[in-house]
Amino acid sequence: MTRTVLAADFGGTNLRAAIVSAEGHILHRDDHLTPAESTPQAIIAQVIELLAGTVAASGAQPAAACIATAGLINAEEGKVIIAPNIPGFRNLVLTTPVGERLGIPAYIENDASAAALGEFRFGAGRGTRHLLHATVGTGIGGGIVIDRRLYRGAKGLAGEIGHIIVDPAGPRCNCGSRGCLEAMVSGVAFAERARLILQQGKSAILKEIAAGEPPTAVHLSAAAARGDTVCEAEIRHGGHILGLALGSLVNVLNPDCVTLSGGLLSMGEMLLGPAREAMYSLAYGPAAGTLIHLSELGDDAGLLGAAAVAFEHLDT
Ligand SMILES: [Zn+2]
Repeated sequence: MTRTVLAADFGGTNLRAAIVSAEGHILHRDDHLTPAESTPQAIIAQVIELLAGTVAASGAQPAAACIATAGLINAEEGKVIIAPNIPGFRNLVLTTPVGERLGIPAYIENDASAAALGEFRFGAGRGTRHLLHATVGTGIGGGIVIDRRLYRGAKGLAGEIGHIIVDPAGPRCNCGSRGCLEAMVSGVAFAERARLILQQGKSAILKEIAAGEPPTAVHLSAAAARGDTVCEAEIRHGGHILGLALGSLVNVLNPDCVTLSGGLLSMGEMLLGPAREAMYSLAYGPAAGTLIHLSELGDDAGLLGAAAVAFEHLDT
């Protein structure tokens, strides 16, 4: 029988679950809305039943389960420390009840760390040994693979590249610091820049596209694509900042490659061109040979990342 795992991508809106083979093939999948129960305990109970339902419907006998979710995770203790997208999720052990209900070892992992291992095992980082992954979306996340294993650090926090300071005088970040990468280059940061552009009356095109709604990164990108130079400069500057952060990390970690995923990549070369240029301008010596690859896992990155983590646990 094919060796499989149960993988789950647990977000604020969606709970995706799948049975995944060791080759990264999704053999069965279920997409649910995240249960909207009144207490975290009730949400967990519902999630566990949905996961058990996926196992039953698939007819598979997965060897392990892994749940990937956003937030601070203590993978060793199987605990969610804080999940910002799921109300009330603080200091909750998730793996014990999941493992008990399903009768298999259960694991939990930060979604960006899982995505890094997913790219390494099944995606754009296949065949490498050391990899840095960055998710560039609403926020900025990251994951590090060293010597073919996910690097978690002492307390499971490793890979939080969104909180590298890129401008000490920059805007305040959710974490409390000033000028974090995430506060400068992310969906939220670009939306704030777009709001300021409108407030200062600097872009008629952006004003027309936003049509009275609060402007978003998508609006900013659309205005730039229509030739708005102010919006384009904003995106290019963001790309440059992103590249500086990646270049710094490349000098520290010396990975074989950097993989990128996330919604902001739809900004294309306007963001990625300056990012690449800044990264290579910083890369020291042999680090200048570090490759940048775009994710190959698309929408399934969360599921395949969780599966990769489950297989890593099984293999060690
Ligand atoms: Zn921060």
